[in-house]
Amino acid sequence: PERTLVLIKPDGVARQLTGEILRRIEAKGYTITALEQRTVGADLLTEHYAEHEGKPFFEPLLEFMTSGPLVAAIVEGNGVIEGFRSLAGATNPTSAAPGTIRGDLGRDWGTTVQQNLVHGSDSPESAAREIGIWFPQR
Ligand code: ATP
Repeated sequence: PERTLVLIKPDGVARQLTGEILRRIEAKGYTITALEQRTVGADLLTEHYAEHEGKPFFEPLLEFMTSGPLVAAIVEGNGVIEGFRSLAGATNPTSAAPGTIRGDLGRDWGTTVQQNLVHGSDSPESAAREIGIWFPQR
């Protein structure tokens, strides 16, 4: 089956939303096949976010993502890449639709970088690349 890399970002873990977010993934019918809470450094995140290097929010993004524990998961199921992005909602939590993770649980906190609770791979190529970064043994 298709696989995607999901992150519950440090804001989601700090706000005790890990269970709520995993519940939505499971309730949708997807399978969590790897799950780990960890605190990571700038090197791993620079690799993960390579496409954003040089953008104005890049440094704040690394600062945010290294600020505390996050949860990394491999999630499986037919169509899961598109399906999880649909569950997550739009990048900006202010405009994310109600019913989505970001729309229901997120908001604008006035920070430079959007604190939007989750990440999901955006293509099969990204998923393979990102799973290789976060779960090299898988
Ligand atoms: P999605 O692709 O679902 O919109 P994403 O996490 O893949 O979300 P990216 O475009 O890869 O979004 O951006 C990575 C992260 O950087 C975002 O999730 C968000 O936290 C932050 N970000 C992206 N664009 C901006 C922006 N214009 N201003 C502030 N933060 C941003």
